[in-house]
Amino acid sequence: MGKPLIRIPYTHPLPPPTIIPASAKTLSGAVTALQEFLQSPSSQLHSRILSRPPSTVVLTGAGLSVASGLADYRGVNGTYRVNKTYRPIYYHEYTASHEARKRYWARSFLGWATMSKSKPNAAHFALRDLGELGFLSSVITQNVDSFHPRAHPEIPTLELHGYLRATVCTSCRNEFPREAFQEELARLNPAWAEFLKTAIESGALETEDPEEKRARGIKMNPDGDVDVPGAPYTTFRYPACPTCLAKPPPIGFDGTSKGVVEVDQDGAWKAGSNAGILKPNVIMFGESIPSTVKVAAEEVVDGAKNLLVLGTSLATYSAWRLVKRAKERGMPIAAINVGGVRGEDVFFSDLDPTQTGKQGVRTEVSTESLLPALVRSLRPSKPSTLKDQVQ
Ligand SMILES: [Zn+2]
Repeated sequence: MGKPLIRIPYTHPLPPPTIIPASAKTLSGAVTALQEFLQSPSSQLHSRILSRPPSTVVLTGAGLSVASGLADYRGVNGTYRVNKTYRPIYYHEYTASHEARKRYWARSFLGWATMSKSKPNAAHFALRDLGELGFLSSVITQNVDSFHPRAHPEIPTLELHGYLRATVCTSCRNEFPREAFQEELARLNPAWAEFLKTAIESGALETEDPEEKRARGIKMNPDGDVDVPGAPYTTFRYPACPTCLAKPPPIGFDGTSKGVVEVDQDGAWKAGSNAGILKPNVIMFGESIPSTVKVAAEEVVDGAKNLLVLGTSLATYSAWRLVKRAKERGMPIAAINVGGVRGEDVFFSDLDPTQTGKQGVRTEVSTESLLPALVRSLRPSKPSTLKDQVQ
């Protein structure tokens, strides 16, 4: 099985990309190159192994959700740009510290109001269309915003880093809907609920534009939390896992002792407890990706003819290694991302300089304009009818 895959941020600067082919600098040039990429036949090797013809697998990251109002972790220079003071919470801090969890849930309480209203954008729906046209078989995403399963439920999506739509108990592993959890947070923290109401009324959380949002004093981070300078995190309360509260779970290596789950008069998790802690059902930084997910992602890559990378600098090892795996298997790679991509000098090092997209594509044209244009170019043209002409 190998070493566990731990999610860690990679913050080194990345070199600017070399656009491949050179014509992919423009929207129309990038569309043409990607047409070739998607329509290229699969290798002999694949055709013999698989019963159905393999198609393209897509790997996405935070860049794809920027047009939905969520921030990217990185800017064009490959450094954290959203908020200079932002540092994501690490798994060991979350599980070890009640104070860290108060801070996390206070920020998440405010962030959820925006996250839950955000919608998939044109790029997500273009993937749905590419699936309907038969070009895509699967999506692997690093995003935790659930936009892929919402936009294209017909295309299987593997959520490499989990999802924010549910919480999970760190003791019993039961999952609970995040929406109901939000109502619990509001009930346990009436002053915060009031603050949130005011923030919504001021429009600070309503705007779709990330720049405008920042201008109104709300800093939104990709994992769905918000910075509120000076807010008293220490008073924030969060509920315990209802399952573990009703029946304390076994703890320890041998599982022979019972965990302690205590709550205050309103049902908030009490310091002194050692179990029944709910966490967002995402892989936090410093947390291992379940081996089942790791293996499933590898299988999806192995079963595809080529790999389309969208809106990610491959900053996390778990994503980078999938692209490395594809490269090692001789699969063509296309990468659409504004700014550098980790390891791209290697991924595109051995392409024929005269190739026009079949062997690989690298462009910085934005996904929300490029993918819909690609869909339009690939749709079979309908013969014009009298009705079309009248309109
Ligand atoms: Zn539990």
